[in-house]
Amino acid sequence: MPTEEETVCKMNARNRRIVFQALSGGPSQRFDPGDPPDDGGEPRLDVWGFKDSRFTIDAANNVVLEGTRYPLSGQELPAFLPWLRSTFQADIKAEDIHPSLYPTRIPESCASEEILRALRAVVGEHLTIEPEQRLRRGHGHTQAEMYAIKYGHLERIPDVVVFPGSENEVIALVKLAEERSLVLRPYGGGTCVNEALRCPAEEERTIVAVDMGRMNRIRWIDPVNRMACLQAGAVGRLVVAQLAEHGFTIGHEPDSIEFSTVGGWIATH
Ligand SMILES: Cc1cc2nc3c(=O)[nH]c(=O)nc-3n(C[C@H](O)[C@H](O)[C@H](O)COP(=O)(O)OP(=O)(O)OC[C@H]3O[C@@H](n4cnc5c(N)ncnc54)[C@H](O)[C@@H]3O)c2cc1C
Repeated sequence: MPTEEETVCKMNARNRRIVFQALSGGPSQRFDPGDPPDDGGEPRLDVWGFKDSRFTIDAANNVVLEGTRYPLSGQELPAFLPWLRSTFQADIKAEDIHPSLYPTRIPESCASEEILRALRAVVGEHLTIEPEQRLRRGHGHTQAEMYAIKYGHLERIPDVVVFPGSENEVIALVKLAEERSLVLRPYGGGTCVNEALRCPAEEERTIVAVDMGRMNRIRWIDPVNRMACLQAGAVGRLVVAQLAEHGFTIGHEPDSIEFSTVGGWIATH
């Protein structure tokens, strides 16, 4: 992983001048905005969305968004089912549901004790082989993938998930992967729609999902040069909220911003 200075060297001359000004403390007033805000948002593993919000159908057969997170939360949406029926020209009934079978069959982890020990030497206890956590890191959000985890299964998923907390830990993971022939799969928000997180069924090496969730901070904001330095695991909605506290916007707002991360944005563009 390139250091901050190495990344700067790859930029064009104009941007390099601005970044060097910021890094050298020139006319910038760089400051650390602190930890990301905690909005209590815990993503669900089996569907798109947060654990505290879901659509249901009430006694009057109207769709309701449960929870308190959104302006629509708690409100009955009586026009929703009629709109679906007319748009899709299908007689969709409130009781006509296809219950999810999640979690279906989840492949066993192939990680040996020796490899788990070596990974723990890098990330400590920030590691899991829990089946549903591994499954989540083995797919994005295409219809086919979401259908597979509810009604079918995925042939191959990561064997272990690690959560590095620093650049040095990421470097150590890459070295370990080279030495032990491990497959590293970075994971941001898991929102990709190009099957980039799928594991080839025939892969025999140990697959390690590298979840960037602990490297989630805005390291600094430079209000003079209007720049910020973000860690790869910073989650879009929290970056937006924290920048807004200082009067800034981010300029990249994908529809997946509630869950997608800076690292994922860069990797998929
Ligand atoms: C409902 C919905 C709406 C969407 N709207 C948009 C939109 O408006 N605009 C848009 O562009 N996309 C959109 N997407 C697609 C998706 O959100 C983007 O591709 C997003 O950039 C993926 O980010 P992520 O953090 O979820 O990455 P992930 O899905 O976790 O990973 C995607 C790829 O990036 C790699 N990766 C992740 N983090 C890192 C890292 N730190 N270092 C190296 N590689 C990494 C992964 O290994 C994987 O190959 C949408 C998806 C959904 C489901």
